[in-house]
Amino acid sequence: MATIVFFCIPAHGHTNPTLNVVRELKARGHRVVYYSYDEFREKIEDAGAEFVSCNGNDAQLHLTKEEGARIGADLALSTRVLVDTTLSLDEPVCRDMERLKPDCIVADSMAVWGKAVAKKLGIPFVCSTTTFAFNRESAKIMPHSLKETLSMILSMGKVNAQVKRLQQAGYPVKSVLDLIGSDESVPTVVYTSPLFQPSAETFPEHFAFVGPSIRPARSQVVKTGEKLVYISMGTVRNDMLPLYRACVQAVKGTNWQVILSVGDQVDTQMLGALPENVSVFPSVDQIAVLQKADVFLTHCGMNSASEGLYFGVPLVMLPQTSEQSGVAARAEQLGAGLRLRRTTPDAIRAALEKAMKDPSYRENAEKIGASFRASGGAKAAADCIAGCFRAEK
Ligand code: UDP
Repeated sequence: MATIVFFCIPAHGHTNPTLNVVRELKARGHRVVYYSYDEFREKIEDAGAEFVSCNGNDAQLHLTKEEGARIGADLALSTRVLVDTTLSLDEPVCRDMERLKPDCIVADSMAVWGKAVAKKLGIPFVCSTTTFAFNRESAKIMPHSLKETLSMILSMGKVNAQVKRLQQAGYPVKSVLDLIGSDESVPTVVYTSPLFQPSAETFPEHFAFVGPSIRPARSQVVKTGEKLVYISMGTVRNDMLPLYRACVQAVKGTNWQVILSVGDQVDTQMLGALPENVSVFPSVDQIAVLQKADVFLTHCGMNSASEGLYFGVPLVMLPQTSEQSGVAARAEQLGAGLRLRRTTPDAIRAALEKAMKDPSYRENAEKIGASFRASGGAKAAADCIAGCFRAEK
């Protein structure tokens, strides 16, 4: 029996894919200890891991609302938060590792404190990434705006000051890239398929492209129209009333059944009287809807896009971040969807029609879906992890 310690950030999209991996490792007789946040305790314990709370130590949980909105886009602030969290977890985690003597640490690519502690204590380390894996080749698909590059350069002084704080605490990090960059020498579990991953052939063998982890549907959706159109901009940046209004206008008078998931930041009353064929919800059972959908207008979050493609649903794509643009670019390259260039009702209707009428979009989406199912899932992820600690023994 080996002891495996997981670290994750407080996000469902990063936690969910790891849960079946935890189940698989438990089924193989290993001990799994999982550092996460109280909100995730139940699902982590359900998967069979021993939960350890990081709530008292996470710097992100103490940000102001204004700072919270800048996280991710502001490199200096993001590094400060990551370093604060790492230093605050340093003492308790190092003490725990002394006692647990883990055979391996598995950390989400953004839970840099897991990676940092593995480096500091010389524990075998596996990276778990819920986005595409990045190297020079695959990064070409991610558009970086001039503004992003400039603000990155301007913030390097502050970032380096944060890196020094880590060095002073005994962490062998040379630059911020040691923390947030992906390291091709590290065995890595990537929750997509070799087909959907851009430039998969350029990654070493210890990168395991295991496919997305798709949860079961909790309900059944009854199809009432000739076509079922599903629209969602995800759960984070979904405060997009003008877009939802344009969507309602776009599908008015069609014989399509339209399900619009708008999140909890939009007052649905503001959409006015809805046409008969449109239903609006703060949240839906997305897996159940996608099983029946003919097209999916999506922001291209990695989870949503993967779920749509898993069920062979053509995508109409409106990405909001550079990561989502990367996902959209890949789906477009593989012919599984098209970008929404303008958000007028006419442009939305035309894009939805095109995605449903041209059969190549569905065929290509189905090919990607089949590649997801053939990628080995949690078993392949557990093999990658086990390979890492066996190699060390
Ligand atoms: N989701 C859902 N119901 C909804 C909208 C979204 O269950 O009405 C789920 C969706 O299935 C996906 C996740 O929320 O698993 C959204 O993750 P994604 O990475 O696509 O985008 P984010 O919300 O992180 O921007």
